Amino acid sequence: MKKENYFRGGIGYKEEILEEFQSYYESKLVKKIKQNGGTHKVGNTIIHLAKEFGFCWGVDKAVSMAFEARKRWKKETIWITNEIIHNPFVNQNLREKGIKFIETLPDGSKNFSVVQKGDVVILPAFGASKSEISLLENKGCPIVDTTCPWVSAVWNRVKFYEKSDFTALIHGKFKHEESIATSSRAKKYLILLNIEEAKWVCDFILNDGKTEDFKQKFAKASSENFAPETDLVKVGIANQTTMLSSESLEIAKMFERAMMKKYGAENLNEHFLSFDTICNATQERQDAVTKLVKEKLDLIIVIGGFNSSNTSHLLEIGELKNIKSFHIDSKERIFGLEQIEHKTLDGKIVQTKNWLPEKEILNIGITSGASTPDILVEEVIKKIVTLRNEKIAGV
Ligand code: SF4
Repeated sequence: MKKENYFRGGIGYKEEILEEFQSYYESKLVKKIKQNGGTHKVGNTIIHLAKEFGFCWGVDKAVSMAFEARKRWKKETIWITNEIIHNPFVNQNLREKGIKFIETLPDGSKNFSVVQKGDVVILPAFGASKSEISLLENKGCPIVDTTCPWVSAVWNRVKFYEKSDFTALIHGKFKHEESIATSSRAKKYLILLNIEEAKWVCDFILNDGKTEDFKQKFAKASSENFAPETDLVKVGIANQTTMLSSESLEIAKMFERAMMKKYGAENLNEHFLSFDTICNATQERQDAVTKLVKEKLDLIIVIGGFNSSNTSHLLEIGELKNIKSFHIDSKERIFGLEQIEHKTLDGKIVQTKNWLPEKEILNIGITSGASTPDILVEEVIKKIVTLRNEKIAGV
């Protein structure tokens, strides 16, 4: 694609949008709590913030570039091929700026027919598939590519597997945009959701399972014409950057053991390759919650979009430690002291009564996903504190 029509690193309007960007997303209260070491006591409510949370570098860059695009192309129609990031508040901000979102049709494809020559198209932080990019290039659209470098690093790994004639085993969600984009770079791939699916495939490899069973189970999560009896002889591990890192590592180990058993330790390198492609930001946020749950907490609130993969894994860490944990996407989910609406680990949105323990002194852990702006964290803290009839001073 012509260089002048393709924007990857930036658009050149960063300075112009900075103040507006900060006014949308930054929080004085969160800054103050961070400066105080992450703990904030308001009356009998003690807030413990995780050491790392909220906007990661990749998300910050992607949303900034969308703001910059609006600044540069004032009159042109601007589209995003998907949500820019998985946060409804941020996506709504962009809608209010007149940026349009390409609709996903019931069959999962996207309605690109609305995009006209000369329209500007933004690719989100988790990237876009190869076919989408070439379609947009053929339409003659300037492309603002906000794909995070961590995601492109996974693509490079997957391409390396392809060159080496290995099948990419991607730990991820087959409907997630990032996994769709990553798998579009591999000729042969299989997407595995969790340890259970990985174990199933390892058993298949070791016990020469039935091809029909495999096809039935992974029809939507494997490349076209996937032949398990030949395409699982050489496998390379990759992952969606936002999965639970401990699970990704466990899956890699399971396949390493299976391939060693099947082909012998001396031949392992010819049958198994691995590379940890969990991004730094995801890792740091997961490590910070792992540390946070060691404190004496009465509950944890995890803030982030309900379709945000990295946010749901933060919830998982709290639940594994048996700490009452609630994933919400905004303060609006807190209906009062008696009721909260939240997303559970199995993906259901439920309402829980009497969610806030009736204790005099309450220790609340708070974290947020890599796509959650600090301003939403501030709103949640303020709401809880207000409900407990306490006032935050000096903010
Ligand atoms: S979570 Fe990781 S891969 Fe995703 S945008 Fe942030 S830094 Fe990039």
